[in-house]
Amino acid sequence: MELLRTPGAMQGWADARRREGRRIGFAPTMGCLHAGHVSLYGLLRERGCDAVAASIFVNPTQFGPGEDFEKYPRDEERDLAMLGEAGVDAVYLPGVADMYPEGSRTFVEVDGVSRGLCGEIRPGHFRGVATVVAKLFNAARPHVAAFGEKDFQQLAVIRAMARDLDFGIEILGAPIVRESDGLAMSSRNKYLEGPDRVAALCLSRGLFRAERLFRAGERDPLALADAVRSEIRGEPRASLEYAEARDPETLIPVTSPTGRVTLLVAARVGPARLIDNITLQEGGAQ
Ligand code: AMP
Repeated sequence: MELLRTPGAMQGWADARRREGRRIGFAPTMGCLHAGHVSLYGLLRERGCDAVAASIFVNPTQFGPGEDFEKYPRDEERDLAMLGEAGVDAVYLPGVADMYPEGSRTFVEVDGVSRGLCGEIRPGHFRGVATVVAKLFNAARPHVAAFGEKDFQQLAVIRAMARDLDFGIEILGAPIVRESDGLAMSSRNKYLEGPDRVAALCLSRGLFRAERLFRAGERDPLALADAVRSEIRGEPRASLEYAEARDPETLIPVTSPTGRVTLLVAARVGPARLIDNITLQEGGAQ
């Protein structure tokens, strides 16, 4: 597994693979890896990528003031062992100064899908995400890139950016990987201790409750979102940020009965801010 630390080194690796006719698959991360991250590399191989690259970069521009940039969990050694085990061919590990040299002033702003939900609660977050992913794409030059549906709005932002800016990269969405008790895997789950870890289950419990209602015939998106909301409100250690019903493609709010809807939830549990979602559709939940 090759370790590359500058945009030039990463581009050199990618260009050499492209000259060999290889199909480059890429999935960026902020490290502190878990099985959800690892699933992205499996998906890329399944989709025919024969040169698979990861990146680990805790991106300062997607964190707001007072957010957890400094204390975001970092464990490079363990991450590299996991990526090696997952059969990843190259890992891009730029430093902040490599990514944002003095005088760096260009940002990518994706209108529409960046609005509302996490975009409203974390102003500037998706601008930071779109900018760093554009830069990572320009370094890794992939044919295919994989992102988790766990960060559903982020996936929509990246799809819109790749389309609007003609990146020519196929964007894959990967299903949410969960702990055996239902909690969506997240690096931020490290912040959950004891009773907070138990309380965190209210997000997935709310989504699964809405899923059962949907299967039993409930099609009113507001009733489905309400089911999620009341589950979170019933948990004293959790504080709800939002629980909303949105169109899975456009993320536009859906208010009338529908056979296909994504429920998105965000809540704070102790020191952690957690997000989760589920897409419900007739014929079975995704
Ligand atoms: P992060 O390191 O949190 O920035 O995540 C890097 C990538 O892994 C993003 O595309 C995430 O959506 C994806 N990811 C994170 N958690 C999960 C999960 N539980 N299941 C699937 N993908 C995930």
